[in-house]
Amino acid sequence: MKIGVIGGGQLGRMLALAGTPLGQQFAFLDPAPDACAQALGEHIRADYSDRDHLRQLADEADVVTFEFESVPAETVAFLSQFVPVFPNAESLRIARDRWFEKSMFQDLDIPTPEFADIQSQDNLDAAVKRIGLPAVMKTRTLGYDGKGQKVLRHPEDVQDAFAELGSVPCILEGFVPFTGEVSLIAVRGRNGEIAFYPLVHNTHEQGILRLSVASTEHPLQGLAEDYAHRVLQQLDYVGVLAFEFFEIDGGLKANEIAPRVHNSGHWTIEGAECSQFENHLRAIAGLPLGSTAKVGESAMLNFIGEVPAVEKVTAISNCHLHHYGKAFKSGRKVGHATLRCADSMTLKARIDDVQRLIQP
Ligand code: AMP
Repeated sequence: MKIGVIGGGQLGRMLALAGTPLGQQFAFLDPAPDACAQALGEHIRADYSDRDHLRQLADEADVVTFEFESVPAETVAFLSQFVPVFPNAESLRIARDRWFEKSMFQDLDIPTPEFADIQSQDNLDAAVKRIGLPAVMKTRTLGYDGKGQKVLRHPEDVQDAFAELGSVPCILEGFVPFTGEVSLIAVRGRNGEIAFYPLVHNTHEQGILRLSVASTEHPLQGLAEDYAHRVLQQLDYVGVLAFEFFEIDGGLKANEIAPRVHNSGHWTIEGAECSQFENHLRAIAGLPLGSTAKVGESAMLNFIGEVPAVEKVTAISNCHLHHYGKAFKSGRKVGHATLRCADSMTLKARIDDVQRLIQP
């Protein structure tokens, strides 16, 4: 079976690493000449709206998927005429726009921060009056890794905020004084079968994920699964879906969903019976899902900007290096390490070992 992937970055690359043993082949459509997934499959170098090349991908592939959510809706509609596309167009439409996403959570009775649609500075002034400060303003689309957002703390931060974010449609969210951030990686097959990985505790710095630690019997696992279940059913979703939550007052508030394999699920490559990548491929290919059970204790640390010397990372026991083969650049995710240990004490020591390499 050949899998077509829109996007040829590290997520596509890790999909191919998981799918190759299943006998799958891969074609990646990506305009970047140095798309790092090309080491693992065919690279169709074209723009995401280039219909000739989209048609080529559709003709070659048995099923098409995405490694990022900001794919133009027309691309999905075009491809869907010729080949099954998972997740479906509606899931992408909702997940790529923070207003649609939060409105869906509200309709499904999933708690969220307070939020308002912002189309102008006047809208913003009115929303700040209702929601109060501090608040977080985010562009409705195209934001990632903390880009396209601004925390408003004082009235003077509000004055020109709409123009500062580019005068594009935004949402304003109440600032959540969370005690932690967790994510749930969920997967739903073509036949409706659903599975969840254990909740992961995430630490961000400057809006970018730094550290994910897989939990053991988290008290909010059942609640997170209930919320994710509602979304999966509502969207008739197929594939892996990542659900990010704020932990507050012993409960959860929904932050966002990502309709794809997710950075906070990379630990599953070594730390779960079947990784998020393999399970995404099993789901979209109509195969039975693999076990999401955890194997030992796991954590993942991102390498941002550069990967430390390979001989130093590989010298740390229990450490699995993933070097994406991308050019090093400040703020760019270029690799990660997964630590898998028998117990949480050893895990903590190994996280410290890797952290020393990042911040010597
Ligand atoms: P996002 O792109 O929405 O995932 O936001 C990136 C990071 O900004 C989150 O992981 C949080 O650490 C922080 N953040 C986003 N929204 C809020 C909010 N409403 N209240 C507090 N912190 C937030």
